[in-house]
Formats: sequence, C-alpha cells, structure tokens
Amino acid sequence: MSTEISLKAFKQAQELIPGGVNSPVRAFSSVGGTPLFISEGNGAYLTDVDGNKYVDFVQSWGPLIFGHRDEAIESAVINAVKRGLSFGAPTQAETDLASLVVSMFDSIDKIRFVSSGTEAVMSAIRLARGFTGRDDIVKFTGCYHGHSDCLLVEAGSGAVTFGNPSSPGVPADFTKHTLLATYNDIESVKKCFEDSSDIACIIIEPIAGNMGLVPADKEFLRELKSICQANGALLIFDEVMSGFRASINGAESITGTKPDIVTLGKVIGGGMPVGAFGGRAEIMAKLSPEGPVYQAGTLSGNPVAMAAGLAALTKLKKNAQVLSVLNARATRLVQGMQAEARTCGITMQIDTRGSMFGFFFNDNPVKNFADACNSDAKIFASFHSQMLKEGFYFACSLYETGFISTATTDEMIEDTIKASTRVFKAISNA
Ligand code: PLP
Repeated sequence: MSTEISLKAFKQAQELIPGGVNSPVRAFSSVGGTPLFISEGNGAYLTDVDGNKYVDFVQSWGPLIFGHRDEAIESAVINAVKRGLSFGAPTQAETDLASLVVSMFDSIDKIRFVSSGTEAVMSAIRLARGFTGRDDIVKFTGCYHGHSDCLLVEAGSGAVTFGNPSSPGVPADFTKHTLLATYNDIESVKKCFEDSSDIACIIIEPIAGNMGLVPADKEFLRELKSICQANGALLIFDEVMSGFRASINGAESITGTKPDIVTLGKVIGGGMPVGAFGGRAEIMAKLSPEGPVYQAGTLSGNPVAMAAGLAALTKLKKNAQVLSVLNARATRLVQGMQAEARTCGITMQIDTRGSMFGFFFNDNPVKNFADACNSDAKIFASFHSQMLKEGFYFACSLYETGFISTATTDEMIEDTIKASTRVFKAISNA
C-alpha cells in the first residue's frame, strides 16, 4: 500500500498550516504516523489521495451516522444551497430542527443553534452561570468539552483540585473557577461542593467518549443530579458526541437521569457545522434577546447546515430501531476482536453504547481517566497502523471512540475481525 501522495500533501500542508492540520488529533502523532489525505467518502468507505480504500470507523469523528454521502442529506443540502448559502435572518428550517430535537429530548423545552460543539458548551456554561449567579463549575478529568478557555483544564492526578490550564495562552485566572473531579467517583464531587459554595453547574459527558468510551454509572449520574438539586447548581450533559449516537432520546433515556441543560453537536448537523444547547424553558429564557445572558453567531442556524441536520434527524427519528441494529454490529465487532486478541495473549476491555464502541488494551476495567491512561499505548499504535494497512480506518488515538454507520455491513464487521486476527498475531509475535 503506497501513501506517497498523502505524505507529499502533508509536507506541503505543514509549510502552511501549523502541524499540517486544522485540528490536532488528525495529525496521527499519538500513533507515530502521518495523516492520510482523503479524496472522497462513500457509504462506509473512505478513499485516500493514493487511491487506497478503507472501511471508516471514524466517520468524521461521529457526525455521519448514515455514512458518507447519504442520499437524503445530500439532496437536502443541494436544495438548500440553491436557495442561498446564508441570510443572517431566521428561516423555517431552524424552527423545524428545534421542534424535532425538542420532540426527542425530554429535558429540552427550548434550544439554540450554534456552529460547533465548543460553542455549544461554552454558551451553556455562560447560561448556567447567568442563571445561578455563580462562577464555579465542576468538570471531570478525562472529559473533553471543546477548546474554550475555562474547560481546557488538565487532568492532573485526578485529585479534586482547582484547575490549572492545560494549554499556554489560557490565563490561570480563567480556569480558577474550574474544579476537577474524578469520573464515576461521587466522593470527589462532594469534595468540590465542600470546597466551594459558588458552584453554578456540573458538566459531564454522561457517556464519555474522549478518554476512550467510558460510560458513567447510572447511580453516579443519579447522585450528581441530587447533589445539584441540594445545592442549587445545574447539571449539564455534554452530548456533543453521544447525542443521537447512543440513543435518539439522549443519555437521559438510558440512564434515567434528566439534566438541566444538554449540549449537542456532530450528528445534529448531519456532517455540517452545527452545535446546539437546550434545556428547561425557565433556564433558556435567560438567553438574549429574551433574557440578559448574551450569546450570538453570524452563521448560527445557517440554512444549509440546518437542512443537513433536519434531513439526518428526520431519517433517524423515522428509523429509531436502527440504533439497536448498529449496537448489535458494534457489539459483534468489539467482542469478535476481543476474542481474537485473547487467543494471542492480549487482553482487551470493550464497551458499546448504541452506534459507539470503545476498546482498551488493558487488563482491568476502565471507569475513569486514570484507568484509561493505564492502557497499552504501544499495542494500540501497532494495532492502528496495521489495521490501516489491512484497509480499516480507526481513530488515531487510544482516547477516542469508534463509530458504526448504517452503511457499515455485517460483512465489513466480519472482515474487520478477520483482519484483527492477523494483526494481533503479528503484534504478539513481534
Ligand atoms: N464536547 C464533546 C463531548 C466532544 O466530543 C467535542 C468534540 O469532539 C466537543 C464538545 C467540541 O466539539 P467541536 O469539536 O465541534 O467544537
């Protein structure tokens, strides 16, 4: 398999774009490789500029639940494009998409659209602060909520502590209101509330997908909700990744815990840049122009992006049963790979939620970021590069989640498992 043209394109990009990429994880640096430049996607497949074809388990990091070039989404976008790219004025599609999301999420009475997950979370935090009149927020080590300043706080040892920025350029003053707690550890959350009486909200990925796939325990989420209620704080579920992927009715429908605010992204835009945040009417009423909390966007609710999201969610709602089909495939994939790994003396921890799957090369169950960090990064890097050569495109970081689309067939899953047998044998013989 030659990747010469990709390599050349990457070198050229590096001259002009920092690191050659417009989002760091694409750089393949954590698996020691160089990125493939993609020429097109079709259904479950990606084709790179050298003409190599891969079964795609990344799907643009989540949005493409119907695979590449889904007909309904593609024609909705083309029709919208023909009516104009952007108006900076309301369109019916925004209300239609809002109505669809509200019908799917019990916890959402009203919703606002933005253009990315980062923006959705950043705005939701401001809203929570504006609603409660408080400054501090609690976030969990290993949860990613986009790259806004107050959420770019590093994991540290996992001990509960006031956060330090994890990136130069983020003033410590901006993160001093971010308290860190340990995922699935309620005592660490209680400690935050002992340390501060000024907590506006707890933000959590209820199904974490940014430390690999690590779902929160149901009881843990229930306790988070009651701590919030007891202390007058809000509970935010960041479902930018898990929304519409784990369940079409949100993590609240799986876990039984209803958040005060939900943030969404990825699938909600059908592959176009859309984010959203929504919640109870009394909270959303605080948003400008109805209320005093300012939030805005030139391209928010963009008509082309709304058309893509509307087509994707309409299709998903009509085919709600599809998530259990995708889950069966995801489960078969990780169970199959786990069994093959085991015969080669390699232990894998696996999990799935709807169309999301995760695996760790780890001897012990993974319940939080520290556990995830104990996984074998070398085996993962080797697995990643060899699976790529076999024609299977997995996320290039062991801290990412995999995705199944409706275009991913049972046959592709079986082929992936067969390829993993060869790869695990090679890894164990190395
Ligand atoms: N929140 C979660 C849970 C995410 O997974 C991501 C991105 O992967 C974000 C927020 C940020 O979204 P975006 O990359 O669209 O800004």
